[in-house]
Amino acid sequence: MHLDFKKNVFVVLVAATVTASAFGVLRSTIPSIVAAALLDQAPNARNGLQAFAAMDPVDTHVHAFKSDPDFTTLIARLHLHLLDICVADRHLIYGDLTTELARANGFVHGSQGHAKLCITFDPFDFQQKDFAPKTIAKLRQQFADGVVAVKIWKNIGMELTKPDGSYVMPDDPVFGPIYNAIAAENKTLVAHVAEPSSSWQAPNPDSPDYDYYKENPQWYMYLHPDHPRKEVILAARDHLLAENPNLRVVGAHLGSMETDVDEIAKRFDRYPNFAVDTAARMEYLMIEPREKVRNFLIKYQDRVLYGTDLEFLSDETTAEALKDWQETYARDWKFLATDQTLDYKGRKIEGLNLPAPVLRRIFHDNAIRWIPGIVPSAK
Ligand SMILES: [Zn+2]
Repeated sequence: MHLDFKKNVFVVLVAATVTASAFGVLRSTIPSIVAAALLDQAPNARNGLQAFAAMDPVDTHVHAFKSDPDFTTLIARLHLHLLDICVADRHLIYGDLTTELARANGFVHGSQGHAKLCITFDPFDFQQKDFAPKTIAKLRQQFADGVVAVKIWKNIGMELTKPDGSYVMPDDPVFGPIYNAIAAENKTLVAHVAEPSSSWQAPNPDSPDYDYYKENPQWYMYLHPDHPRKEVILAARDHLLAENPNLRVVGAHLGSMETDVDEIAKRFDRYPNFAVDTAARMEYLMIEPREKVRNFLIKYQDRVLYGTDLEFLSDETTAEALKDWQETYARDWKFLATDQTLDYKGRKIEGLNLPAPVLRRIFHDNAIRWIPGIVPSAK
């Protein structure tokens, strides 16, 4: 097994070099060498990524907006499939939507079948004439081009307002026809609705999100007490779930119920069309009581999708991204799959050591069931 894996790494590296030479472009293989070296660094990390790869893992929440064959080599070597998610925001975190979409398409097309696109629409157009039919026509075109999911973002519920000053919520009737169309096309809605509770709380350096809100005060609701409360936004999300029983919804970031898995369980019991991803919230699962989280993941093993929120941006070097991505996968694997101890902000966290069939669901099966088309069907 171990030898096979090393051999595969070698074959991929040689294949990549030969391919590059065949096109007359002898690309620098330095990032590939860096990646291989990282895999060989510590026996534990290597075993971890090796075992991770054996799951045929699917990361259902990434933001990749740059193309590089060396990066594709890494995802191929990890047997990894990705959902590349576009975000429509007015703060231009990933550039304007057209540029972002072009970059995401570039990444997906260069991924040799390892990535699929999750598209979005600009909710700020909601008052334009024919908003819903126009949005639906565009989405249908994108579905025909291979798009498998649609994202809505936290600006719905937290930023977008009507002329009377009230906030547009995710269950606003203006989005109803769009949700119907997504369900009718058998696609999935990825819903990043609301924020971690720490957004509404006084600054706390121990919070996993402390740095984020320091750098992004516009999303720090503690500073904006006039904005909707988290409970109001999540109630609107729950209403969306109830009103659209045929729409599969994946709640990004543990469905913004990151501090208590019991809150997620309640929604799972109420709404069979609802699942969550773990993107950027694995730390919260680490700091909740271990047995409670472990029992939750076993009981609801069909409803939790593995996701990270990892980024590969146009201004980032491939070597940096390769390091970051591999470290995250190794850490998450260690936490979910082993009983080893991790260090998080000075706390000792014991791995959950989940049973293999549960790991298989979280890392692979659930992605395929909840986001059909995310992995091209075999042969
Ligand atoms: Zn994200």
